[in-house]
Amino acid sequence: MKAQDKVDVIFDAVVRRNPGESEFHQAVHEVLESVVPVLDRHPEYADVKIIERICEPERQIIFRVPWEDDRGEVHINRGFRVEFNSALGPFKGGLRFHPSVYLGIVKFLGFEQVFKNALSGMPIGGGKGGSDFDPKGRSDREVMRFCQSFMTELYRHIGEYTDVPAGDIGVGGREIGYLFGQYKRITNRYESAVLTGKGLSYGGAQVRREATGYGAVFFAEEMLRAVHDSLEGKRVVVSGSGNVAIYAIEKVHQLGGVVVACSDSSGYVHDDKGIDVELLKDLKEVRRARIDAYVGRRPHARFVADRSVWEVPCQVAVPCATQNEIGAAEAKALISGNCMIVVEGANMPAGPEAIRAFAEAGVRFAPGKAANAGGVAASALEMQQNASRDSWTFEFSEQRLRDIMGDIHRRCYATAEEYGMPGNYVAGANIDGFRRVAEAMLAHGLI
Ligand code: GLU
Repeated sequence: MKAQDKVDVIFDAVVRRNPGESEFHQAVHEVLESVVPVLDRHPEYADVKIIERICEPERQIIFRVPWEDDRGEVHINRGFRVEFNSALGPFKGGLRFHPSVYLGIVKFLGFEQVFKNALSGMPIGGGKGGSDFDPKGRSDREVMRFCQSFMTELYRHIGEYTDVPAGDIGVGGREIGYLFGQYKRITNRYESAVLTGKGLSYGGAQVRREATGYGAVFFAEEMLRAVHDSLEGKRVVVSGSGNVAIYAIEKVHQLGGVVVACSDSSGYVHDDKGIDVELLKDLKEVRRARIDAYVGRRPHARFVADRSVWEVPCQVAVPCATQNEIGAAEAKALISGNCMIVVEGANMPAGPEAIRAFAEAGVRFAPGKAANAGGVAASALEMQQNASRDSWTFEFSEQRLRDIMGDIHRRCYATAEEYGMPGNYVAGANIDGFRRVAEAMLAHGLI
């Protein structure tokens, strides 16, 4: 059977075995399409069913999370941890707290994480977890009680050498603090490297908070450098206004670009003078306010409710909100606004039609598993500092991050060329990540 036919059969089986999990199917489809030429060159992978094994998580945990709100009412949420692949190191990946979370989302994120982590060049496997808990509008005490209940089950599955969670949407420094406190209390172990994204006062690492956003912008800079251009003077749109978006905006401004719009789930703000990132931090990190509050403090800016931020023309797009935020219509708007590059700060924000449209229009596109790998790479650096009981300076840590993003870019670029698809970062990222995991799995035997 030809490699393409084998891959089609495997994909059909994945869909049948994981019914209703559309995001997971989408993520698997994209990777499998990319690796067909690798299978042609490496028939030994098919002999031991590497692809079938890569598509099946090593372990999936689903658990009950009961907690009490401030009025004494009891709530039950569902918790997940999908330990996807540990060929390269302990399972590693964030926790997402959002009402949309179900097994299919956690599996898509875990699957992406396997290749992203491989591509980062760090010794970490891939996993992901989370809950359908909605932290929006909840008090600190409620979030703390939820985190404590969540960890009361999760603690038995994780550990420095087993599985190391971190944050994702809805899980930031506050939540990691509560989760770490409960882990320490239950286990009676100060096991710093069991979680990453910790506060600087108790084992966190410099630049971890900034790393996903900064890293995505370093990647954008490399993509522009590859076509003899730079971020200097570029108009940039960033979707989202969470941790990834905020630090992407900060770094674009430091490198001479101007971010003219960003968003949240209620709409977007358009500020032609450049988004005021300190104001955004105050609104989002301190006051946890809606983004329309921005125009109250910057009256020349415009708030547009319930519309897509991608209608604002830009040369560089950095989607940092959530999966599938760029469909065919948004891609068309970006292309007609003369966008040159799209760099995914979030996980899978561009759908397959959008990626196809970008390719046809000659818009360079970097998938999240390459462009946002700075976050998890910095987590691996945090584990490294925890293991050696050391802490590095901001400058040193940022330089490490920049070097790592440069390496990832070089590998994606070179791999795409090697396989005859120059400039195709999707193929480059998927093939390089896949080869690394497949080699290790082959070495470990049939497990
Ligand atoms: N949630 C982040 C990601 O999507 C970070 C994961 C980590 O640091 O473990 O890569």
